[in-house]
Amino acid sequence: MAAKSDKLFDKVLIANRGEIALRIQRACREMGIKTVVVHSEADRDAKYVALADESVCIGPPSSALSYLNIPAIIAAAEVTDAQAIHPGYGFLSENADFAEKVERSGFVFIGPKPETIRLMGDKVSAKIAMAKAGVPCVAGSEGALPDDSKEIVKIARAIGYPVIIKAAGGGGGRGMRVVHTEAALLPAVMLTRTEAQSAFSNPTVYLEKFLANPRHIEIQVLADEHKNAVYLFERDCSMQRRHQKIIEEAPAPSINARAITRIGERAAEACRKIAYRGAGTFEFLFQDEEFHFIEMNTRIQVEHPVTELVTGIDIVQEQIRIAAGQKLRLRQRDIVKRGHAIECRINAEDPWTFVPSPGRITSWHVPGGPGIRVDSHVYQNYLVPPNYDSLIGKVMAYGDTREQAIARMRVALSEMVVAGIKTNIPLHQELMLDDKFIAGGTSIHYLEERLAKRLPSG
Ligand code: ADP
Repeated sequence: MAAKSDKLFDKVLIANRGEIALRIQRACREMGIKTVVVHSEADRDAKYVALADESVCIGPPSSALSYLNIPAIIAAAEVTDAQAIHPGYGFLSENADFAEKVERSGFVFIGPKPETIRLMGDKVSAKIAMAKAGVPCVAGSEGALPDDSKEIVKIARAIGYPVIIKAAGGGGGRGMRVVHTEAALLPAVMLTRTEAQSAFSNPTVYLEKFLANPRHIEIQVLADEHKNAVYLFERDCSMQRRHQKIIEEAPAPSINARAITRIGERAAEACRKIAYRGAGTFEFLFQDEEFHFIEMNTRIQVEHPVTELVTGIDIVQEQIRIAAGQKLRLRQRDIVKRGHAIECRINAEDPWTFVPSPGRITSWHVPGGPGIRVDSHVYQNYLVPPNYDSLIGKVMAYGDTREQAIARMRVALSEMVVAGIKTNIPLHQELMLDDKFIAGGTSIHYLEERLAKRLPSG
């Protein structure tokens, strides 16, 4: 099993659900690879499950008992004779133990080596490794904070307030606390440590300068196991609510092309230095024309299609080729970005209160036309289960210019019909008409500030 050669896999198991399970399935089918989809009881009737060559029910609706159930997923790969496992995003995608067990069981994990996932999964070790590899980082403590209170105070003073205390094992926007004064420092460190221990079973915290007005800019990379690495330019993901991205675009408005080249080269070089394998994303805060590394995601991301639209590269197919041991066919000089792409994440939630809105979709109509791409597993009469993330699809608009992409997105959103449940489409429609968004380059705080001023009925 797990034959690594020029030949691609015969069969890939997709250990995920929803739109990304369908996205991976499409990539495999296009490449002539058979697919196995594992699913919970809640996803049994989903169309993408029926479209797969084989499907295996791995447990009840609860993620802990299904999509996070490592033995059940590995058993499904064994009984179906799959050769490789694609973890998608979320769930087990950044779980080093899972990657290790997959490989020990004789399957190929479509992603980085387990030790790389472990290195990058701990934000303290990730930052140390990246600083060593020449990637600019946010000023902060050199590694974990010590136990000695006096030392902590000294470190914070040297960095200057405000500072942010972050859990080494944190993720999903949790395990962070901003501190504005020295008086608040030690209690905040203690609280974050306690929370980090209970949420991530790791009390290690570190400290960083809190940047007041940054943008979230990330660099997509691809690296093979033969030490070749390229960057596929940047995405701007500054439109966030509670640290969750809702709109992403490529390229990032008004950032100097030379600055992007420089940071892209650094990211690719860092991949070569740590022997990175697969697709990955370097996340940066960008303020005062400077990039500051915050973390690396060692998986495919929700927003990968905007990069695909401007570069013409199928990132999921590249992941599969790399996992099969092939050399990257792409050379940096051949990779160009053309035009502009925007993605709106469509969530099953109230557009005013953001309360999730699962249930039966009674009417479903997706937009189309030039430059429109919709990635969604949903269809008329689909039941959005209450057990998972509220993302039900992504609408992408591509144009020669940013203006054209925005105009196409407006038309697309106006054509889209989702009835029976609530979605955040009205919020996206508002944002596509928002002066600051149209101007481009808003900070990560913009959406929250704007929402705070929003009137209840629009
Ligand atoms: P997570 O893994 O939980 O997503 P990140 O380290 O990526 O954590 O940070 C999530 C978000 O928190 C960032 O996108 C940014 O909005 C905010 N943030 C993190 N570090 C800083 C910082 N040093 N200054 C200002 N904001 C920050």
